[in-house]
Amino acid sequence: MEINRLNNLINNANNIYLASHVNPDGDNIGSLLAMFKILKNLNKEVHLIINDEVPDSNKFLPNLEYAEKSENLDLKSDLFIALDCADLDRLGRVKDLFLDSETTINIDHHFSNTNFADLNIVNSKASATGELLYTIFENLKYPIDTEVATCLYTAIASDTGSFKYDSVTSYTFEVIAKLLTYGINKSEININLFQNRSLEKTKLLVKALNTLELFEENKIGVVTISDEIMLKLGAKISDADGIVEFIRDISGIEIAILLKEKKDNIRLSLRTKSFVNAINIASTFDGGGHIRAAGATIYLPLETAKEKVIKAAIGELNK
Ligand code: 5GP
Ligand code: MN
Ligand code: MN
Repeated sequence: MEINRLNNLINNANNIYLASHVNPDGDNIGSLLAMFKILKNLNKEVHLIINDEVPDSNKFLPNLEYAEKSENLDLKSDLFIALDCADLDRLGRVKDLFLDSETTINIDHHFSNTNFADLNIVNSKASATGELLYTIFENLKYPIDTEVATCLYTAIASDTGSFKYDSVTSYTFEVIAKLLTYGINKSEININLFQNRSLEKTKLLVKALNTLELFEENKIGVVTISDEIMLKLGAKISDADGIVEFIRDISGIEIAILLKEKKDNIRLSLRTKSFVNAINIASTFDGGGHIRAAGATIYLPLETAKEKVIKAAIGELNK
């Protein structure tokens, strides 16, 4: 079975790499740190590569100080594990390092996952990669400790909007119930994740909200963030996290759209509330993700990208 193959590959590996996806989120960082600690507990040589900025809300997590940039690694790994990564491009500039390694593993929960590794453990029914990892660790009787449980709880709480989204199942709560038996500080985790917005981030939220445009009887909400605003506020990329959810949470909104200028391209973030499949809109622009949360990179000027995304969203809303 897949899980036994994973176990054999880990047992036989000497030098294991783990890497974040571009613009990592709580599920990605939490899953990586959980796997990192498990592999350390198994006395493995493991390198954790995080090239992009870690969101402030995840900086409390244990063992982040071991994260390295890929440029500082010269060895090839004999096993490379990608977590929460839907396709090879999401690995950003570690893609080549991944492809160069002896064996590759892809553990993920994205519906649009392209099964890009030698061993693919993909379950789109899992609410988070962290949920899937718990199942794997439990089945293989891997040594879960308080730090591992803290990271897995963070991963699941992050990707489910604190256990609110459609992706949450009774099994998600079973996993959470078990994680709570490891002595984690859930109050500290929740404050860090959900009650810790910096002043800069709040200012960016206000600026973004000022650009709100509504379409289709207020069922579609669009906000934009220009490079100029980012520069003016001295905001970080991760400061834009949470803005698109804020739009989704407006009553009556079905499709929330955030377009963020980033030099010569536009990052599209999509959230839907109850019936529109966000993947269908994102895939118009070669992106992907989940039914209620998807994204893409669009290589067009902001205004042109906006027009095209609104058109695609209207089409999907009225399908
Ligand atoms: P976010 O809006 O938070 O950046 O992304 C929402 C979801 O869409 C995440 O689950 C993420 O993995 C997925 N996603 C975002 N951008 C892309 C993209 O360019 N390609 C693919 N395949 N998925 C994306
Ligand atoms: Mn992710
Ligand atoms: Mn995820």
